Amino acid sequence: MDFAYDDQNIFAKILRGEIPNRTVLETEHTLAFEDIGPQAPVHVLVIPKGPYTSLDHFCQEAGEAEITDFWRAVGEVCRMSGVEDGFRAIANARRDGVQEVPHFHLHILGGKSLGRMLPAG
Ligand code: 5GP
Repeated sequence: MDFAYDDQNIFAKILRGEIPNRTVLETEHTLAFEDIGPQAPVHVLVIPKGPYTSLDHFCQEAGEAEITDFWRAVGEVCRMSGVEDGFRAIANARRDGVQEVPHFHLHILGGKSLGRMLPAG
């Protein structure tokens, strides 16, 4: 699998400070910020700072410190966002996953009932 990374993607620009964002949490290896088009009352994107295109790229090639930092940040975002009643974490990947931005990001959605995971059919 070729995980070629395009450093002109919008999240790379956010990480370089070229585009503003509403930061929820920043750690050594991870940034969490509000999605620009929220699909639920809570809609936060958690991204590693490293150049990983997708969840599988991140899990295969990131270092232990990056992986630990990322998932601890996810936990902290959930704590901060007040999603005690539940939430959904989504990582879209490539064509079949309909990934729009080719920098790995985990959507954290909550604040209301989110319905079934996928539409029937
Ligand atoms: P994907 O379809 O790749 O999983 O999701 C990309 C997400 O990035 C979408 O939910 C979209 O609203 C969000 N997004 C796209 N451009 C920007 C941006 O410039 N800033 C922020 N905060 N979110 C963005």
